[in-house]
Amino acid sequence: MASVGQRNTGPEMSVRRLLHRMGYRYALHRRDLPGRPDLVFAPRRKIVFVHGCFWHGHHCRKGRLPTSRVDYWSEKIKKNQARDATNVAELKDAGWNVCVVWECETRDPEALRRRLVRFLKEDSS
Ligand SMILES: [Zn+2]
Repeated sequence: MASVGQRNTGPEMSVRRLLHRMGYRYALHRRDLPGRPDLVFAPRRKIVFVHGCFWHGHHCRKGRLPTSRVDYWSEKIKKNQARDATNVAELKDAGWNVCVVWECETRDPEALRRRLVRFLKEDSS
């Protein structure tokens, strides 16, 4: 079943295309980093995850749980969220800056572009 951690999804591809067009270069799905981040900007020490709203439990319409088997799904999504949090914590400990882009945010490319540019320009702290 297609699930969490799926690569090269539609939302991920829109983020990649957007950044590539602006001249940013990045590595994809580095296996040596926690969570195999979708986009890695190594010289900037920055990472972008593109999360599906459902699988990663976003608080938006697309992130709503199905009305059947609620316990099953909420358990599953909670596990995904816990894993996401662990991955981000480990990356931050290792000195990376992390930005999470939600699937629903890719619907507004202009706002997304501004957010990503701001994130990638920021000084690491
Ligand atoms: Zn969402």
